[in-house]
Amino acid sequence: MRWLPFVLLLGCSSSDPTPDAPTDTGASDAAVDTGSEAATDTAPKCDPERTEADRPDDATGYMVRAFYVLPSDGKDERHDVEGRIAKSIEIWNDWLAKQTGGKRLRFDTCDGKLDVGFKRLSKTDAEIKATGAYVREAIEKELAPRGKKIVAAYYGGGSTYSCGGGAWPPELVGHVAALYLHGTPPGPYPCDAHTLANLDGGYFEFAMVHEIFHTLGAAAECAPHHLERGHVSEDPRDLMYRGPEFWKPSILDLNRDDYYGHSIPGCLDVAKSVFLDPLPDGAVLPPGW
Ligand SMILES: [Zn+2]
Repeated sequence: MRWLPFVLLLGCSSSDPTPDAPTDTGASDAAVDTGSEAATDTAPKCDPERTEADRPDDATGYMVRAFYVLPSDGKDERHDVEGRIAKSIEIWNDWLAKQTGGKRLRFDTCDGKLDVGFKRLSKTDAEIKATGAYVREAIEKELAPRGKKIVAAYYGGGSTYSCGGGAWPPELVGHVAALYLHGTPPGPYPCDAHTLANLDGGYFEFAMVHEIFHTLGAAAECAPHHLERGHVSEDPRDLMYRGPEFWKPSILDLNRDDYYGHSIPGCLDVAKSVFLDPLPDGAVLPPGW
């Protein structure tokens, strides 16, 4: 089968915010930022092996950190050390640059290489699945990213609800966008009918950009085509589409009128996000940060 239609299996923010959604004070910024440019002989190096530590950062700005996350009993498919996460991110960030005229999301790198972290959670796949619509929250609770980083979590566990989830500030402020690689939501296909960084049409690639855009606040309720907490109704080719048709993403904000590069005063525009590289003029934080 050359084309597997994308059923929109992203849960995103369609449920109520959880009471334990972290509220970030930014108090730990200093810990995040040190050791970037001033690397010395005593500083930790860019460890090529799997590590739970944050390798020294090349940049000091707001950035996305990739993570491979497993439930306590999850099968290790080595997506971090075998390069599939890095390849997948390269594919979708290149797509994003084509759509934006050269802007990418800034990633945490060490000596120019993507810094992919690893975390094995304390709970089992079944325990985390039992949270229903709150798998993302379970991941965020244990990773607890703070300060200037958003985490792009490639979670090698299941969900009975969706294939991914994101925060949606200001209503749900959070630092984790996640894909549930072995999700089994209602619908004709399990999430792993698709594979990472494979030429199957790029489901997981578009899905991760979709969840990160939610986590940056898109689409805001003031977007003319907004519906269902962070989505747009305009066209199934739109990255943030939700609706009755198969999702066939290929366009970032069709007609530039909802969440990227629009001209609606006071409405969130991801084109101004501090997470973009190069940094836009007058760059702004996600709402509620
Ligand atoms: Zn969504």
